[in-house]
Amino acid sequence: MSTMMDMNTITKNLKALTLKQLSALGEKRYRGVQLYRWIWKRGEDRIENFSDLPKVFRQKLIEEGYYVGSIEERKRLVSSVDGTIKFLFSDFESVYMPSENRRTVCVSSQSGCSLGCRFCATGLLGFKRNLHFWEIADQVLYIQKAVGQKITNVVFMGMGEPLLNLPNVKQAIRIMTSHIGLGIGVRHITVSTSGIVPGIYELADFDRRVKLALSLHAAIQEKREKIMPIARKYKLDELKEALKYYYQKKRRRITLEYIHLAGFNDTDEDVEALYEFTRGLVVKINLIPYNPVPEFDWKSPTEEEVEDFYWRLKKRMLDVPMTVRWSRGRDVMAACGQLALIEKIDPSFLRITSGESA
Ligand code: SAH
Ligand code: SF4
Repeated sequence: MSTMMDMNTITKNLKALTLKQLSALGEKRYRGVQLYRWIWKRGEDRIENFSDLPKVFRQKLIEEGYYVGSIEERKRLVSSVDGTIKFLFSDFESVYMPSENRRTVCVSSQSGCSLGCRFCATGLLGFKRNLHFWEIADQVLYIQKAVGQKITNVVFMGMGEPLLNLPNVKQAIRIMTSHIGLGIGVRHITVSTSGIVPGIYELADFDRRVKLALSLHAAIQEKREKIMPIARKYKLDELKEALKYYYQKKRRRITLEYIHLAGFNDTDEDVEALYEFTRGLVVKINLIPYNPVPEFDWKSPTEEEVEDFYWRLKKRMLDVPMTVRWSRGRDVMAACGQLALIEKIDPSFLRITSGESA
C-alpha cells in the first residue's frame, strides 16, 4: 500500500509542475499562468506573497502541502581574475560568467556523465543521474537572484550530455524562453553535444530555435575515437548529415568546438580533415586551448602554439569564422572540462588571465 502511494505521489514542489499541471490546481485556468509567473518570472518563493491570487486559494495550496522548491547551494567560488563564479549545488555545478554586454550561465544537465571523454573531469565521475527540468532551469533563476542581475545567455556546457536527457532539457528550455518564465531570447541559448546523432535530429525538430554546438575535437575518425568513446557509436559522416539537417531546420550557424590538445590534434593532417568536415556546412570554429585536468596528461598549448594552429586553419578555410576561447574561471576550476565537484584549486592558475568566453 505504502509503495503504491509513493509511486503515485505527485510532487508538491510547484517548480516541478508544468504550466498545464499548474493550471489544473486552480478552478480557473489562468491561475496556472499566474503561478508560473510568480515562480519563474518573479522568482518569488513564498506562496503567501503571490498577491494577485485569492487568499483562500493561496491558503488551500499551503494547507495541501504545496511549496516552491529550490536547488541547494553548497559552495560558491569567486574567481579573483574575471568575476566568474562557480556554484556547487547538491551534486552538480553551474558557472556564472559576466562580461560587458551579457551575463551567461553555464548549466549542468546531468550529475556526472556516462561518456568518459579522455580530457574531461566530469567524465571521470561517471554517470550519477539525470537532472529534472526544474533543477536545470532553477540554476538560471537561482544565480540570477544570487547575483542580482538578469541572466541574458545560457550555455549547456556544464556537467553532462544534454542530448541524453532531452525530455528534461527541452522542458527547461521552455521555461527559460517563456515570456512568463525566465524570458531569455531563444538565440541566446546554446546546447553543446558530444555528438549524439538521434538527439541532434530531435533537437532540430524541437519547436525552439536554440543554437547548437558540436564538440568535435578531431575530424579524423580514428583520432576522435581515441579521445571520445562515443565517437565509435556515432561516426563523423553521420554527424555531418545530422548537422546539415539541423541547419536546414533551424537556419542557425552551428559551432564546432575544438579542444586544442598540443601535439595531438593540431597537425597539418588535422587541418585538412577539419577543412573537409566543414565543407558544405554552415559553421564556425571555436578553438579551446585544453584546460588542465590533473588525471590526464595532455599538454595545454602555449599561446604561440594556439596562434600557429589558428592561422594554419584560417588560411585553409578563410570563409569559416573562427574564435579562440581562452576559458574563464580557471583559478576556481570552473573552466570547460573542469567541473567535477572537486575543490582542488591550484594556486598556480591564479596568474592566468582570461579572454572571451562562448
Ligand atoms: N557533454 C557536452 C556538454 C558539456 S562539455 C559536450 O561534451 O559537448 C562542454 C565543453 O567543454 C565541451 O566542448 C567539452 O568538450 C569541453 N571540455 C571538456 N573538457 C575540457 C578540457 N579539459 N579543456 C577544455 N575544454 C573541455
Ligand atoms: Fe561528458 Fe561532455 Fe565531458 Fe564528454 S566532454 S565526458 S560528453 S561532459
